[in-house]
Amino acid sequence: MTTMKITSVTARYLSCPIAVADRNVSDFGAMERFTTVLVTVETDKGVTGVGETRAGGLPAADKSIAAIINEELGLRLIGRDPLDITAIWESLYNGQRADMAAKAGRAFPSIARRGLSVCAMSAIDIALWDILGKVCGQPVWRLLGGKAKDTLPIYASGGWSDAAGLEREVTSYLRSTGARAVKIRVGARDGTVDTSIERVNEARRIVGRDIDLMVDAHGTYSAAEAKRFGREAREARLRWFEEPLSGDNKGALPDVRAASFCAIAAGENDFTRFDFLPYVDAMSLDVFQPDLGVCGGITEAMRIAGLASAFQIEISPHVWSGTVMAAASAHFALACPQTTIFEVSAASNPMLEQLGRGGFEFSNGIMSISDGPGLGLVLDEDFVARCAT
Ligand SMILES: [Mg+2]
Repeated sequence: MTTMKITSVTARYLSCPIAVADRNVSDFGAMERFTTVLVTVETDKGVTGVGETRAGGLPAADKSIAAIINEELGLRLIGRDPLDITAIWESLYNGQRADMAAKAGRAFPSIARRGLSVCAMSAIDIALWDILGKVCGQPVWRLLGGKAKDTLPIYASGGWSDAAGLEREVTSYLRSTGARAVKIRVGARDGTVDTSIERVNEARRIVGRDIDLMVDAHGTYSAAEAKRFGREAREARLRWFEEPLSGDNKGALPDVRAASFCAIAAGENDFTRFDFLPYVDAMSLDVFQPDLGVCGGITEAMRIAGLASAFQIEISPHVWSGTVMAAASAHFALACPQTTIFEVSAASNPMLEQLGRGGFEFSNGIMSISDGPGLGLVLDEDFVARCAT
């Protein structure tokens, strides 16, 4: 087998406006545009892979990720075999000391071992898995060990309305997606815990007994507020309480879990398996929610899944992205035995709807995936070009 070589790694910052009437308003403000970073890895054999990452809608941060890839990480990969996926992950993480780390068998990361550098690595990693799949003529899910399940139920993720507007919002999600589960936002945006409780009780009344209901506080409660919410939301019979606290307040999470009458979920802002370790050390989570564009790509998500498996922790990846990251999340989710449900954004997002097609689909409340090689995607290059200008 002749060795394949990487000839170029290109990151593009993409930005697409969202129509005024379609903008949701979260604790981050009105969603005026959706931004992301699209990565293309080209090889000397004519096989090209695509990856994606994003820094939560901060344009300058997304542009910085593109610069990290175009001006540094990508250049280090020219001439390397793209199929050496694990070795490349380790070499990018360990930077200048990659050879020493490889010899020692443990990580020697630099000061940039979290944050945008890991986002950049995540997008490259996803593109390398796409290349491997195309070279093998197999979908990524097969390369990860095959499907652990054929399909997954989806949940509609939104719920920004006040109590009076929730009925219209939630019923329209359930009707349009066929989902049997829905997640609404709570937390500091509500002003008081009482308002959150009122909204969550209203949501339960709207969906009835048989629809799963989750809440997401986006990391905004204090420990005292989260414990009170967890106790007083008992009547709403929540499936999970997501990000009760900031990721910088992991130490208070076990108390929140003990006070709550539902599962506790988190992980969308955590980088690498090392960030997930405190959760298992403290037994503070029931559901891990790695974001494929944040945690370190498909390679690192599988390692995080291994950690979760040993501690009986469910996986439900965080999916808030364009088509490429969503496809990577879908391949990972179906290959991973502990996944239970798949997030589908209820917000208007042209990047998810128009960046590409194929790979995965949602129908009647169920996510399924194609047998196409790699991520199975065909990008809409005209849309990409419009968003890149
Ligand atoms: Mg969330």
